[in-house]
Amino acid sequence: MLTFNSPVKQLPGVGEARAKLLFKLDITDTGSLLRHFPRAYQHRGNVRLLSEAADGEVAAFILTVRSQPVTKEVKNRMTITKFSAADKSGAAVIVFFNQRYVGDIFGVGDTFRFWGKLTYDRGVPTLVSPAYEEVREGRPLPEFVPIYRLTSGLSQKYLGNLTRAALERIEPGSYPELLPKEAYEKLGLCRPAEAYRYIHFPQNYAELDRGRKYFVFEELYIFSLALTRARKERATGGAPPLGPVDPSEFLSALPFELTRAQKRVINEIYADMVSPARRPMARLVSGDVGSGKTICAAAAVYFAVKNGYQAMMMAPTEILAAQHYKDLSALFSRLGVSVALLTGSTKASEKKAIKEGLASGEIDFVIGTHALITDDVELKNPALVITDEQHRFGVMQRAKLASKGKNLHVLVMSATPIPRTLAMILYGDLDLSAIDELPPGRQKVDTYIVDESYRERLNAFISKNVKEGGQVYIVCPTIEEHEDDNELGEGLVIGEGGVVGFDFDGTREGDTKLKSAVKYAEVLQNEVFPNFRVGLIHGKMRPAEKDAVMSEFAAGNIDILVSTTVIEVGINVPNASLMIVENAERFGLAQLHQLRGRVGRGTRKSYCILVSDTKNEQSKRRLQVLRETSDGYKVAEADLELRGPGDFFPRGDDGSPRQHGELRFRFASLWSDMELLKSALELASTCEPPPAALETVRGLFDISY
Ligand code: ADP
Ligand code: MG
Repeated sequence: MLTFNSPVKQLPGVGEARAKLLFKLDITDTGSLLRHFPRAYQHRGNVRLLSEAADGEVAAFILTVRSQPVTKEVKNRMTITKFSAADKSGAAVIVFFNQRYVGDIFGVGDTFRFWGKLTYDRGVPTLVSPAYEEVREGRPLPEFVPIYRLTSGLSQKYLGNLTRAALERIEPGSYPELLPKEAYEKLGLCRPAEAYRYIHFPQNYAELDRGRKYFVFEELYIFSLALTRARKERATGGAPPLGPVDPSEFLSALPFELTRAQKRVINEIYADMVSPARRPMARLVSGDVGSGKTICAAAAVYFAVKNGYQAMMMAPTEILAAQHYKDLSALFSRLGVSVALLTGSTKASEKKAIKEGLASGEIDFVIGTHALITDDVELKNPALVITDEQHRFGVMQRAKLASKGKNLHVLVMSATPIPRTLAMILYGDLDLSAIDELPPGRQKVDTYIVDESYRERLNAFISKNVKEGGQVYIVCPTIEEHEDDNELGEGLVIGEGGVVGFDFDGTREGDTKLKSAVKYAEVLQNEVFPNFRVGLIHGKMRPAEKDAVMSEFAAGNIDILVSTTVIEVGINVPNASLMIVENAERFGLAQLHQLRGRVGRGTRKSYCILVSDTKNEQSKRRLQVLRETSDGYKVAEADLELRGPGDFFPRGDDGSPRQHGELRFRFASLWSDMELLKSALELASTCEPPPAALETVRGLFDISY
């Protein structure tokens, strides 16, 4: 018997090579394997007769092989294997490419369940590279087949079988118990061991629902527990005492006049920090992309430093931290405030010097990434911590940063417009400030939605833009080919057909291909724009590489930057005037809005072009919203209405479903699961949490109480 934490190598069929591939998916032990949840399911129980199925329909067909498979060589050593198979309503031709071995699998008279897209080839029903399972007496076939996120070299079938093997071998008592017993009593949830079986291999809808409900609740409960802990931490007094500061020097060092909204928010911050009650500030500043949040944070830093204290600012990416450093050190050098930048890629010697400077009080203000948390940075006299782009972090990371000192003032900034009701739940421990006005003179970014048929015109437009001296971003949904080819068609409703079928080496036929950044950058450079400089940036690159590319782009040495959503937050290159998003239907609206915010930052007339071949009416309607409004809050509301709040925090470009950020739920949707959230919050504050739950909260967010 294995336990929930046995190394994957103890499972059958996992050697060194496979273990490495699994590691790429963050799968190291049986637990992480089981927590690599299906992304969707093929409803293979949806069996149709050939005569009933329409051209292009995706479904299962139970067919008996009628003719011996014949393999022919066609051009370029490619092979094609064909045979005929039939049900009572008629016969179909089954076709496989470059899979000679299937000739040995299909014998005349054998019956298989095929799953794929039925097309009519000159009037003959045809299945190209369908998935198949042999139908045998006494061995029922599963109703649903899980679809997992893959990495190249691993197939759906392999991962499915491995997961099944793990479920069979894990000692039932070793599943971690994350919920208090009251949760089972109150909500009638199934036990964890069942939940894992149901979620991976549901026999029917009821099991799928039960499995899902367990994980929704588990997720909401852990989240609630984290939130409850964070709230308890908020102190009511004892903040560093700050005296009044004359802001005129700060204001006159700015290259622009503050907007009214900025002035209001800075006043709110000032009132918090310079309050005789000494209640530590805990304030969220929200404002649309480009509304000028950074300067409000800078004002807070100024108040702290003028009082002889130090401040820290944490940004979610190195690129963003570096940019803040560049902008703010310019401003603060005029004010006699010393600023340092500390990230994961800061050289060891430099890091040491910075840490010493912070410990001695010589450095007033440090800007950085997670490194500020992980590197044991200590400040002599801290008063203020700031997190930028809060939605990229979690509650606990914020708390962890705040624990760098006693009762520090905390300021968090977020460009993600969340509806008030949600903000109340998520940021219930924070006071809210909104910057609801953009600096004057901002130009509107013209937004267009086009499909593949515009490709040539689009390329001509890119070319024109670059020749006029502008720069272009092209955002792709995936980094590498294949990594996402187990992705199902959009608008998937389980059981309603429309689920895309795959053959066993993971490629799929007939579906729109996702553009991958790596490949597309190559094609653009070598074939489409050999005379322009094409760059590439994505989340799997090392931070130093990313920085190098970004600096080249900012310096104008790259004309076209192909990227994933790593450029989503905060990047400021005013010369960039064209944003193209490929497979735009794959992105959340809020995310597209952020991406659009990367252009229109300078004097050039700017454009955002969303490329999508989607036929899905709902997806089309969603994209239309961006064409109609440039107001982030309206975009957010529409997004919520059309898709639910899960979309606010889409997956990271490495495919991870959540990156420690609030609301980035894998299972729960805060909108439709609001009732469960209420129960979870209640249980989190009234019942004793099981030790494993506390452990998870600590582990997830890397914090000790
Ligand atoms: P965000 O709210 O998205 O973080 P930033 O703080 O990065 O926005 O500001 C975006 C740009 O607008 C920066 O280049 C900044 O210098 C500029 N900016 C900020 N406030 C003003 C203002 N009141 N007037 C003119 N430009 C401003
Ligand atoms: Mg910002």
